[in-house]
Amino acid sequence: MSSLSLSEMLKSYDTNNLTIATVCSHSSLQLFHGAKQEGFKTLGISVGEKHKFYDAFPLAKPDSFLIVDNYKEIIKHAEELRKQNVIVIPHGSFVEYLGAKNFLELALPTFGNRQVLEWESDRSKERTWLEGAGLTMPEEIKDPRQIKKPVIVKYHGAKGGKGFFVAKTYEEFKKRVDTSKTYAIQEFVMGTRYYVHYFYSPIQSNAYKLKKGSLQLLSMDRRDETTIDEVQRLGSIAELEEIGIHPTFVVTGNIPIVLRESLLPKLFTMGEAVVEKSIDLFGGMIGSFCLETVVTEDLEFKVFEISARIVAGTNPYIAGSPYSELIQPNLSTGRRIAQEIKYAVKHNKLGEVLS
Ligand code: AMP
Repeated sequence: MSSLSLSEMLKSYDTNNLTIATVCSHSSLQLFHGAKQEGFKTLGISVGEKHKFYDAFPLAKPDSFLIVDNYKEIIKHAEELRKQNVIVIPHGSFVEYLGAKNFLELALPTFGNRQVLEWESDRSKERTWLEGAGLTMPEEIKDPRQIKKPVIVKYHGAKGGKGFFVAKTYEEFKKRVDTSKTYAIQEFVMGTRYYVHYFYSPIQSNAYKLKKGSLQLLSMDRRDETTIDEVQRLGSIAELEEIGIHPTFVVTGNIPIVLRESLLPKLFTMGEAVVEKSIDLFGGMIGSFCLETVVTEDLEFKVFEISARIVAGTNPYIAGSPYSELIQPNLSTGRRIAQEIKYAVKHNKLGEVLS
């Protein structure tokens, strides 16, 4: 963890003059927009001239930029950023660009509990967490010779589904697998995908109540993945595979969606269990998280992944979602995060939502 403790970092902070910062990518437009709505100053961390495109979105353009040559340099700027009372909001690209080790050591107050990284980035720990919470995950196939039904092969650390492939038999698996990389084999769950965006507040009890704090459902999306989602325009997957064209799972966008209403209570039970288990295992997740699920024809949820911070699937909802509208008009996840920080400042609880 960072060489400075959170309380040491916060000691010098003027908490009435905070700056919300993130890396210019992923969900940064939403995060800056939400922070501005709540009256915060904002700072974008960008490599090179990339920040120019923010001129096209004035309501989401950060007040200032820190331009670096590469993202790994951010750690060198920590002291200068602390002088501006910066609080970092991490997103998936932030953690990926900086690298897990640098992210854990970053000497800046960071929204959420950084300990969670260890539990979501290690597939076996993730399974201990989610199955320990009573969720059903896709079956894991340890020995590829036991492939008896369609499986998805996932390479470790591959972002955005890159390199993943589907195999129906051991022979197919053998032909496609890159054995120089570590991989996991999972049952390919047949059904419809829902990526559910939650917000857990350990310090507010004005939503679905948990043992400590409360849980909100802010929105959900379905990822748009190339080429699997549109490959049928050219022919069936089986036909294409015969000529050596294999579908890929690279995320290119996000589509808004709502869930059959009778399934909503189940989402809260699942979200609650995951939060409670995270408290037992590592002191608890904080703020936004996403359960990536497939709903089967028996209306059962199978959870194949958890993301323990804001996901890009929240981006269609900058002006609110069909769920967040029932909490507060125009409530995005980015804005909800800013509100949590504002509430924590007011009630002297910043130490409970940052790490
Ligand atoms: P992930 O990196 O685990 O989020 O997976 C990338 C994509 O692969 C997902 O967005 C899904 O479309 C698909 N996927 C992952 N796991 C499964 C599974 N067990 N069954 C079916 N599809 C899956």
